[in-house]
Amino acid sequence: MKHKITFVIAFQLLFSTVFSQNDTSTIVIMHTNDMHGYINKFAKMKPVIDSVRNANKNSMLVSAGDLFSGNPYVDRYKEPGYPIIDLMNILDYKISALGNHEFDYGQAVLQKRRNDAKFTIICSNIETQNSEIEKIIPYKIIKIGESKIAFISGLKITEEGYPETLKSNLTGIKFTDPIKTISEYKYLKDSASIVIGLTHLGYKADQVLAEKTNFIDAIIGGHSHTIIDTPCVINNTLICQAGSYNNYLGVLTIKILNNKIVYKKDTLINISNRQKTDVNIRQVVDKYYINSDLDRVVGFLGKTLIGQEEIVDIFLDAFRITTNSEISFMNYGGIRIDTLKKGNVKALDIYSVDPFNNDLMTAMLSVDEIISLIKVTYSSEKKKTITGSIKYEVELKKDGSIGSVIFDKVLDNNKLYKVVLNSYTVKSYNFKGNSKFKNANLKSNDALIKFFRDKK
Ligand SMILES: [Zn+2]
Repeated sequence: MKHKITFVIAFQLLFSTVFSQNDTSTIVIMHTNDMHGYINKFAKMKPVIDSVRNANKNSMLVSAGDLFSGNPYVDRYKEPGYPIIDLMNILDYKISALGNHEFDYGQAVLQKRRNDAKFTIICSNIETQNSEIEKIIPYKIIKIGESKIAFISGLKITEEGYPETLKSNLTGIKFTDPIKTISEYKYLKDSASIVIGLTHLGYKADQVLAEKTNFIDAIIGGHSHTIIDTPCVINNTLICQAGSYNNYLGVLTIKILNNKIVYKKDTLINISNRQKTDVNIRQVVDKYYINSDLDRVVGFLGKTLIGQEEIVDIFLDAFRITTNSEISFMNYGGIRIDTLKKGNVKALDIYSVDPFNNDLMTAMLSVDEIISLIKVTYSSEKKKTITGSIKYEVELKKDGSIGSVIFDKVLDNNKLYKVVLNSYTVKSYNFKGNSKFKNANLKSNDALIKFFRDKK
């Protein structure tokens, strides 16, 4: 492999001096991923995108998925998600990978947003025949200048076989192994001069994809929010990713001579520290930021909370108190901002820290079932993915397997405890007692708002 990397670098050095910027065989693919509704950066992105387009007419803009969930002004717009689709249309995105968070508003809304989009959303490892979603194509070939570029996509699925979203959003949809499925499209190499893996798999899986295939020239990835400053080349595949939240714009430059790629390079442009903004885009964005419902004050916070470890306590208290439960658990992954500032708490803050609209669910669990919940939610990296209002440590055995769970207070083995979880945790983990959980008819973000209101 080392051999191949040196070879490619040598090639790049040789040809970068041969070609001028405006050579017709130069293709520039600008890319973002995991935008999660961060439309506020579009006004800064526009001048950068314009300058790339002005420098090379054979340039295009693409996205590697997760357009939605993370900005309440987008998530809670009257047509959920519409603002980012509108801005992507204005900026002339040509194509996007399907991300796991695209399902967060439900199938009907995703289909509506697909209808609004002037760009195509692709995914190869999905079958939608029995769902509300119209067929999603696995790949698309786009002609730019004299060159044809094939984009093929795949979506990360968990060991259970589903992408990370609420399972109830996936009714009737089937998923196959993304790497295996993408591998079946080797023939794309014969129909296009460049094959791009426009994936939503995460950096680790992108590396596996590059190892297991030999027809993908570059992977533009997403999902892991990885800032790849210096892309690596595996098996002659360049692996790129541009962080998240529109902080970076990736610029992939590919040069072709006699239908062969002779140069490829990806660089990231930092958008956050750009001064220049586009006035027209700013106006469009500002319009979407008018939302009195989000500006209302719902409570007060006595001190600033920093990091998931501190913020999680609010979730644990709110879940327990609003559902009158004895024990609560919360998944760290559901906490979506890292600071809650002291002072007035607005609805905006609540929907920012908890954007997913999960329901709360309760059940009477035995100690054995609570232990099963704790063990099953322990990650493959041997880390807690959830934490509880009851504190506990998990013993790790020498062979790396999970040993006993030690609580900081004695639990009664003959008693059942009322436990509250969000629906994401219930539906994502197959622990003992899982089927006992019933919907408490309260959204977790509404529980947080109620908790703050009642404290006032
Ligand atoms: Zn994702």
